[in-house]
Amino acid sequence: MITCNPIKQETLSIVVDNDRPFVRINDLLDYLELPQQDEVDTGFPFLVSRHFASLMAKGNPNDPLLLQVLPVAAEKEPSPGFCLDPLADCDAHQGQGILQKYHGRALLVATGACAIHCRYCFRRHFPYTSHSLGNSQIDDVLSTLAERPDLSEIILSGGDPLTLSTDKLSRLISGLRSISHVKRIRLHSRAPVARPSLLNDNLCRLLAPVAGCPTVLVLHINHPREIAPQLADKVAKLRKDGVLLLNQAVLLKGVNDSAGCQALLAEALFEHGILPYYLHQLDKVQGAAHFQVDDAAARELYAELRSLLPGYLLPRFVVESPGASSKIPVM
Ligand SMILES: *Cc1c(COP(=O)(O)O)cnc(C)c1O
Ligand code: SF4
Repeated sequence: MITCNPIKQETLSIVVDNDRPFVRINDLLDYLELPQQDEVDTGFPFLVSRHFASLMAKGNPNDPLLLQVLPVAAEKEPSPGFCLDPLADCDAHQGQGILQKYHGRALLVATGACAIHCRYCFRRHFPYTSHSLGNSQIDDVLSTLAERPDLSEIILSGGDPLTLSTDKLSRLISGLRSISHVKRIRLHSRAPVARPSLLNDNLCRLLAPVAGCPTVLVLHINHPREIAPQLADKVAKLRKDGVLLLNQAVLLKGVNDSAGCQALLAEALFEHGILPYYLHQLDKVQGAAHFQVDDAAARELYAELRSLLPGYLLPRFVVESPGASSKIPVM
């Protein structure tokens, strides 16, 4: 059994940063010098970090960063083919927040919280409260996973795993590292984009790979402007520590739906040592239909993107299909 060095809990402190997020639409619009709008009750609360807001252009109602987070009335309109749980996550749920769809790897819904609320999110209707990990449940989950030698990779997801306190994350990660069949720990997170300061030194130290158990951090960056200098600093630190950095983006109408924008994103990611991993065709979750790029236009975009980029910078263009044994290449 490989036992990786667990991080000593006492060296870690609770994550602190002073980003006071926007929780009211009109406060953000005010900050952006845009006209006020009626609050829309969509059932998925509005949440935008100060940092993310600071990357938006003032006075532009069509800013690609703003469009990702601004609730609109269209979210409430039913659209054919769009549903509450488009990926059948509830079917794949094995209890304790463990979702398994694919061979050898399972995804752990470590928390329901995020550092920002993205309107297109496919988990916007996921019943998080019944799946989130409380402190007391971490040991139970670890025992369950310890009895699953078929799982060589555990993906911490959510919500956003990097919104967990460093103490909780440390318990989870060191616990996973002590399970001999867990060969890789992956984190899927948008928190560094929304609030780079969350990646404090303690957290970076915790993410640094240990022998026999490397760490993969899959960021979620949709637009080149999301790569702020504050994020670049943290990314450089993680890279120096040996964390493999990948990115997944979602193809979103009005946000990043041109080959030019996707090419710029890929180039900007590479400049910071992050490799494009997936470009997702939108999951058909109720409330997100206004972000959809239809399949024909999406294929055309991707064909053009392929002609613009070296192969290693081309993200795999995929769609999720409930019950499939992997994500499905669109082309
Ligand atoms: C997307 C996803 C994964 C990861 O898939 P990869 O192709 O390995 O990136 C794993 N489990 C679940 C449930 C997923 O939705
Ligand atoms: S950060 Fe990720 S999980 Fe959270 S709302 Fe955005 S896309 Fe969804």
